[in-house]
Amino acid sequence: MSVVYDTEHPIPMPPILWDNMGFWEGIKRHELVFQRCKQCGTWLHPPRPACPKCRSFEKEWAPSKGRGTVYSWVTYRNSPHPSFKAPYSVVLVELDEGVRLVSNMTGVKPEEIYIGMPVEVIFDDISENLTLPKFRKVG
Ligand code: ZN
Repeated sequence: MSVVYDTEHPIPMPPILWDNMGFWEGIKRHELVFQRCKQCGTWLHPPRPACPKCRSFEKEWAPSKGRGTVYSWVTYRNSPHPSFKAPYSVVLVELDEGVRLVSNMTGVKPEEIYIGMPVEVIFDDISENLTLPKFRKVG
């Protein structure tokens, strides 16, 4: 089940700052990108100034294949915000590149989600100013 937004309440926008701007610019053009260390190739998410493995400050925005598995999930039975209609599920997806991304599932009921479920990214154009990466079941 995907998140349903209440059009009478403003949608909470993600804070877009200098360090995560590349991620959100990628989402806007329907491309999932993550920081990758230019020195050792380690994928980084959330964005950070230095590579935790080799401490290099040299990074690039590299495209993800957008596939992974559900690492964990939670279903909200009560809405924490008037824009979100409960029940809805928040998933933590582990991408094949090794990074984890908090997102929503689409096309499945909360009780159908399980740890290890293979998923792929889709892009939901919520409004002119907001596109969100979400995941759907593969296979
Ligand atoms: Zn590195």
